[in-house]
Amino acid sequence: MTLASLSMNQCDILILIAMQAEADSFIQKWEMTEFVDPSLAPLPARCYRTSSQRIILVTHGKDPAQKFDYVGTQFAAITTWETIKAFQPKIIINAGTAGGFAKEGAQIGDVYINSQGCQYHDRQISIAEYHAFCHKPIESKLAQSLIKEHSFLKEGSISSGNSLDTTSEEIDRIARSGAHLKDMEAATVAEVATLFKKEIIALKAVTDLLDGEHPSATEFLQNLQLASNKLTEALDKVVRKLVGEV
Ligand code: SAH
Repeated sequence: MTLASLSMNQCDILILIAMQAEADSFIQKWEMTEFVDPSLAPLPARCYRTSSQRIILVTHGKDPAQKFDYVGTQFAAITTWETIKAFQPKIIINAGTAGGFAKEGAQIGDVYINSQGCQYHDRQISIAEYHAFCHKPIESKLAQSLIKEHSFLKEGSISSGNSLDTTSEEIDRIARSGAHLKDMEAATVAEVATLFKKEIIALKAVTDLLDGEHPSATEFLQNLQLASNKLTEALDKVVRKLVGEV
């Protein structure tokens, strides 16, 4: 599709990033400008676009008084839903940070792609009909094909839930599920995008090691800037490749 055939409300690539700090360096690198789409109100999300309008980046937004970012699956669901409707993207990228497993070779700053799918670790319903709903990984064909051309990305599966903090029981469950990363949005973005029959990839830079010595929150805050810079480098390469193709 050419730019001329895109309406004002359409884009080729929609990048969804939960936290503003994870997004700022990409916004600067691509000289994106912030805009307001009144149809999204009262969603707290913030929207940015390139001058060509082919790429739109959306963050979940921050609470104005308390300053926290609206991270997690609930805001991922409504932000993904509303922005797919508003911007009709062809491809959706969920970019951000995640916890990884040192014993699987993860290092701080490594960037993974969801070539082995996304799943949830806090969706547990012991009724046969719900097995797939709870445990079947949400696949990404696009991630599987991109990994072949982007050897700097690590392959993996991402498990999502609503907490940064974890119990050792939860870490064991995530490891047993075969997931390589733990985050708070990827499975939801993939699930909503799949409802809309959209291609989706997730790119996640490691901020903390789930089987390391330090609490996730401490490591996360220490490594957020470094991981966000690594994320921007990887996202830049992937977006350049995709822009050439869409
Ligand atoms: N106190 C932090 C909270 C961030 S929550 C702050 O506001 O600065 C963590 C965010 O980073 C989520 O969007 C999540 O997707 C990602 N993340 C990074 N490491 C994670 C981990 N170990 N577990 C779950 N989410 C993680």
